[in-house]
Amino acid sequence: MKNYTTLIEKQKAYFKTNETKDIPFRLNALQKLKSAIQTNEIELMNALKSDLNKSEFDSYSTEIGVVLEEIRFTLKHLKAWSKPKSVKTPLTHIGSKSFIYPEPYGVALIISPWNYPFQLAIAPLIGAIAAGNCAIIKPSELTPKTSEIIASIIQDIFPEEYISVVLGGVETSTALLQVKTDYIFFTGSVPVGKMIMEAAAKNLTPVTLELGGKSPCIVHKDAKVKLAAKRIAWGKFMNAGQTCIAPDYLYLHHQIKDEFLFHLREAIEDLYGEQPLQNQNFTHIVSEKHFNRLASFLKNGEIIIGGKTDGQLNKMEPTVITNISWEDLIMQDEIFGPILPVLEYNNLSEVIGEIQKHPKPLSLYLFTESHTVQREILQSVSFGGGCINDTVYHFASPYLPFGGVGNSGIGAYHGKGSFDTFSHQKSVLKQTTLFDIPYRYPNMKNGLKKI
Ligand code: NAD
Repeated sequence: MKNYTTLIEKQKAYFKTNETKDIPFRLNALQKLKSAIQTNEIELMNALKSDLNKSEFDSYSTEIGVVLEEIRFTLKHLKAWSKPKSVKTPLTHIGSKSFIYPEPYGVALIISPWNYPFQLAIAPLIGAIAAGNCAIIKPSELTPKTSEIIASIIQDIFPEEYISVVLGGVETSTALLQVKTDYIFFTGSVPVGKMIMEAAAKNLTPVTLELGGKSPCIVHKDAKVKLAAKRIAWGKFMNAGQTCIAPDYLYLHHQIKDEFLFHLREAIEDLYGEQPLQNQNFTHIVSEKHFNRLASFLKNGEIIIGGKTDGQLNKMEPTVITNISWEDLIMQDEIFGPILPVLEYNNLSEVIGEIQKHPKPLSLYLFTESHTVQREILQSVSFGGGCINDTVYHFASPYLPFGGVGNSGIGAYHGKGSFDTFSHQKSVLKQTTLFDIPYRYPNMKNGLKKI
């Protein structure tokens, strides 16, 4: 197993020079990153096409564009975020002033997955740079072309003692985790997230874990059904369902079930045509192993939309399955593919009870016009984040910190959330030397003591 001590020590030494902490340095690094991404836009799109068959539209709107927008937002706000904040001081501390200094941790290790291989490696990096850290990125081995472009972009603009990309799979991650870094930002599956936290615990390294899970999507009887179907089809089948915040399963109120499914079929056809397997722009499943796992779910329930597959190209139609129960294989784990199982309900309390029995999801989507129903769900169900009357869109707002809760993750990022994640909040009390208050010392009389 390769040893990464030299690289990490180099970064630690560079961090100690304080260069990365200068605000103009950070702004310049972000500008450089932005220009390099823009220059390499075509190469990135080609790599994403080759790794996952992503269309240009998808590559820009869900990978490159999201990252460029995140950089623009960070450049605009970085000066304000990084200023020490003056806060109140209680009367008991009279004479002193209180400040909070956001300070970088040092060397951050970013480990990212394959489903949005560019965005999920670079978006955390923006936070790490903004906060003044050095960073090492370990992108996914399952999307090798994109990972190579990431490495070449970073190598062209940054010295390795500042930002570095290490290519490789599980063994590489494991080797990196053996050396102490100052922060670990991991995006990936729940089982691997647990291993990351275990490795981090050995060095007491703080972690952010962006994990997954089964995200419910509820369509209540008073929802605008046609619009709901369109927004759900978009959020579920984008990237062939390989999206951590995709609706994993549907809960339909029995009164609108048939009407909803009619519109869902229409919406899927509008998005991908009558023959989605022939659609050149439909993302394929990342690997044969993942394809076979998904194909085994097609044996569950009754397929009412889609269901065709192309094993040669690892492609699977957007598929909707009814007659599903919680005992079926498809309901045991996160699906992470273009299959949408449908459950039916009569009372909202059944839905709440069932969701509460399972680990806290990364996202939840609720379609309803009723404020009472919205309140009931928001009050009763814990989840990372989500939308009312939409899917996935909350992810793209820099004002909404993005992350999970419980099994779906620890910590959050995006916008100021990213800056805060990669910053330690150093609290400092600046005390006066003009006088000294005696109360805190034992055996002293009341009153101010002249120094
Ligand atoms: P994964 O956990 O298999 O791999 C993620 C990264 O960890 C990769 O870089 C991989 O090389 C590395 N890795 C794998 N096994 C490892 C091990 N034993 N020790 C150390 N490192 C290891 O996840 P994936 O299959 O790439 O991605 C899919 C999962 O990620 C899904 O569960 C999905 O929900 C989740 N995800 C979450 C988010 C989010 O923002 N919360 C975003 C995308 C994906």
